[in-house]
Amino acid sequence: MAVFEELAKKDHEQVIFCHDQESGLKAIIAIHDTTLGPALGGCRMWHYENEELALRDVLRLSRGMTYKSAAAGLNLGGGKAVIIGNHKTDKSETLFRAYGRFVQGLCGRYITAEDVGTTVREMEWVRMETDYVTGISRALGGSGDPSPVTALGCYEGIKASVKWQTGSESLEGKRVAVQGVGAVGYHLVQHLARDGAKVVATDIDGENLRRITTDFRSVEAVAPDKIYGVECDVFAPCALGAVLNDDTIPQLRCAIVAGSANNVLADEEKHSAMLERKSILYAPDYVINAGGLINVANELEGYNRERAVQQAASIYNIVTTIYQIARDEKITTTRAANALAERRIQRIGRIKGTYSGTQVQKRGRGII
Ligand code: NAD
Repeated sequence: MAVFEELAKKDHEQVIFCHDQESGLKAIIAIHDTTLGPALGGCRMWHYENEELALRDVLRLSRGMTYKSAAAGLNLGGGKAVIIGNHKTDKSETLFRAYGRFVQGLCGRYITAEDVGTTVREMEWVRMETDYVTGISRALGGSGDPSPVTALGCYEGIKASVKWQTGSESLEGKRVAVQGVGAVGYHLVQHLARDGAKVVATDIDGENLRRITTDFRSVEAVAPDKIYGVECDVFAPCALGAVLNDDTIPQLRCAIVAGSANNVLADEEKHSAMLERKSILYAPDYVINAGGLINVANELEGYNRERAVQQAASIYNIVTTIYQIARDEKITTTRAANALAERRIQRIGRIKGTYSGTQVQKRGRGII
């Protein structure tokens, strides 16, 4: 791969290859854009088939973080790290401490966190070597499990979407089909049930499905392959990515798609257009699921649950703004979300060009 050509394509600032003989660490950190602030993004540990795939993944994911932070109104840029290795067999304290030392060497340009294949436990090893880590347990003053805050943001996004379509944000009597009742899905159902929504849920994990129907008696369970065809107001994908594709979109009988799953559309351009043709309103995934990111970003100024929850609730207004842009500019909601993020980066980038005397770099959150 021609590395610099690849970096130029999506405008990446910096890529760092980290190697440590002793621990066997092979990691890549990608910093996409720091216009808004330090690049924050998780550290994924994955058994990549080859190094090129690892590099491609970290470049793609770090760019996604730039958009996610920008749209969420955070003063953060986009970054991501990948550790090449088997997350089931290759984890050790030395590996993660070696990784932490590389993160520290970037002096705060990149702030790491947990991601697929890493957990709070490894971030605590990382924290022994660097100040630039989030996603620490509540016991150590961190933000802990992000899923309740992600679920809250998702619930706010659903209300904003229902309000946009019907003129009322009430979920009373609305039928919501939830795919996946794991960490986020469970908390989402809790909000929906409290508001009097009629929830239809599915999960491939029988235990999780039993838990939801036991805890919330009104929840109706359906088989995993039946969820797409459920006639409902909202389809909330809270399981895997790429679930909306050429096969599943024709089955949908919903008015809105709004859920926490990442990369929910198999092909962003093609499938958001397909949803639009079916008059289905799509709440862009990286906007509606930003509660988790908002939660960890709050650690940067000393974690405060109330503030994190309040910020996650602002997803309601962000989703509404995206629908306004999409309507006014006659573009899909996916494009509108990207436009919102890009315009914020451009505007803030321009004001940062003005010399402010002390040149104090303010970091942390901050809502639009
Ligand atoms: P989780 O693993 O706790 O829950 C996912 C659930 O989906 C599980 O119960 C699993 O059995 C179920 N599932 C998997 N495949 C399924 C299928 N084909 N049909 C039905 N159910 C299926 O994960 P989570 O933390 O709840 O995250 C859910 C989604 O939200 C993921 O896509 C994740 O990337 C995204 N997300 C999560 C957070 C967070 O704070 N946890 C933040 C942002 C985005």
